[in-house]
Amino acid sequence: MTDCTRRKFLADGVSCAAHLALAAHLAPEAVRALWAQATGNGVVASEPFGRLEQVAEGVWALISTPLSGDRTTLCNGGLIAGRSGVLAVEGFMTPEGARWLAGKSRELTGRWPTHAVITHYHADHSNGVAGYRDGDRSPTTYATAATRATALEKNLPVDDARREALSVVTMPDESGATTIDLGGRTVRLVTRRGHTASDVTLELEDPSVVFTGDLVWNAMFPNYVDAMPTELAKATRALRRARTTTYVPGHGPVATDADVGRYLAMLGEVEGAARAAHARGTPAAEAGAAFTLSPSLGEWALFNKVFFERAFAAWYRELGGGDARQP
Ligand SMILES: [Zn+2]
Repeated sequence: MTDCTRRKFLADGVSCAAHLALAAHLAPEAVRALWAQATGNGVVASEPFGRLEQVAEGVWALISTPLSGDRTTLCNGGLIAGRSGVLAVEGFMTPEGARWLAGKSRELTGRWPTHAVITHYHADHSNGVAGYRDGDRSPTTYATAATRATALEKNLPVDDARREALSVVTMPDESGATTIDLGGRTVRLVTRRGHTASDVTLELEDPSVVFTGDLVWNAMFPNYVDAMPTELAKATRALRRARTTTYVPGHGPVATDADVGRYLAMLGEVEGAARAAHARGTPAAEAGAAFTLSPSLGEWALFNKVFFERAFAAWYRELGGGDARQP
């Protein structure tokens, strides 16, 4: 993406994965391969921007593959079907992305989505939500009050269709979990925080599946732009289950429990380095530039060191004092 000048990059800053376009020509082949790896799940549709994988009966994960440079969807999402309804996860970067997933819902289940959930305000998860509207069909869309307000306030470009789509959002109970009955299938929307001030996870008991939003990234170093680091690790530990579970992360391939463990170990390594640098009084930019992840943590797609700096800046915000400027 040669148009990704620094200015454009900054303008896209609210998109937690805007940097992925930059990764397309910088990421090593090994990382590309990791990103694109099949998980053994049945792939029911494949496009340059992503693939739809069946992860359980009536549950599909849309795994975006943005290293292709195609940002139609950009983040992950999916479909959860019951006897009387279908829930679409995320609003995606573009209305075309949401519309594509809605079309797949009709092909796979016979239904246009009846419900949609936006996990947090970042543009790549919310900007395309108007794509679920098709004539008089429009799913009941769920997001927290904070997500709705922040999406309307910060996300660019201003889009009247998105504004209208978000104006009818139904708020989940901010005090805990909201339950959606799709007919023989119950989805819990759990309000959490850590990647942003307001995140939502979608949780199924049987089969055991968790759509984590951006609280979990798999094989991709997360964007800390709005992160509250201690809350992020706490929320990840809270959504992790003791039994065998399929985790659909916000970015990267479908994750196992081992992948979530590796992610937590990575967050811990960032924490240790950030705390040490903060104690020494090293500026976040300098500490981020010097930081590398241990090889034992495996491959993590990172194409631009500014994301390490952002992680350190987030820690410095939490620890107080020092240089907490946003890169
Ligand atoms: Zn995000």
